[in-house]
Amino acid sequence: MKTRHLRYALMTIILGLVIYLAVRPAGGRSFEAFCPFGGVESLWGLIHGGQFTCALGPLNLSLLVGVLALALAAKKAFCGWACPIGFLGELAARLGGKVWRRRPRVPDKTNARLKLLRYVVLVVSLYFTYRLGELVLRGFDPYYLIFSGFGHGSLGWISVLTLAVIVGLGLIVPMAFCRWLCPLSATFDPLARLGLIKVARDDHACNQCGACRRACPHDLAVQNHTVVRHRDCTNCLECVDACPVEGALSLKVTL
Ligand code: SF4
Ligand code: SF4
Repeated sequence: MKTRHLRYALMTIILGLVIYLAVRPAGGRSFEAFCPFGGVESLWGLIHGGQFTCALGPLNLSLLVGVLALALAAKKAFCGWACPIGFLGELAARLGGKVWRRRPRVPDKTNARLKLLRYVVLVVSLYFTYRLGELVLRGFDPYYLIFSGFGHGSLGWISVLTLAVIVGLGLIVPMAFCRWLCPLSATFDPLARLGLIKVARDDHACNQCGACRRACPHDLAVQNHTVVRHRDCTNCLECVDACPVEGALSLKVTL
């Protein structure tokens, strides 16, 4: 069985739970309690006023701590195995792959520069949230917009356009939002690089076919490394599934 089946089953369950929380009559905005980035957004209010910001609560903080601990153990496994937006991004990328069979690759340098945008989003989001005590970026947040159905705090056509751009980009460039714009991904980055569980490549077994890179949703050059230390690796194991040489790629615990 491909690892993807297991991963998708797990993410379907999590996505179903979030949808249930979002649509149940007494649910209110309780799906927001399942966003670990809410933990980051709450920190300032908690430190200064002893209060959580807006609809956020202790579960956001607990999830943030859990997700950071997971990053130390298994890099960005949260993104590849649990995040509903990551899951929707992967589904969009698969759909886009069927429509655009020969999608142009974003050059490595451009890709690296665009990744800096997620730090800008992180700083802007925290600055305004801490300053105003409001989740001011809700109107641009795909998680909020999708699961609230453009609820309170969305910005009409601006939010619709934002979501359309994010979805459209995701159809053309796999995981564009996760790669370039996600502030939670930016929060993980320092720890994700250290994560102990990593994909390792056996140089003697590998035939340099490049199937691993073509399968990687984050376009990581797996075939150039004996251990994938890159901060963007989600341990999704798409590369391992795609590798035609048995044993060339495996998971290892290593510094
Ligand atoms: S898919 Fe496997 S054999 Fe091909 S380059 Fe990657 S690790 Fe090597
Ligand atoms: S390197 Fe492999 S495990 Fe890491 S993100 Fe790419 S496909 Fe997933």
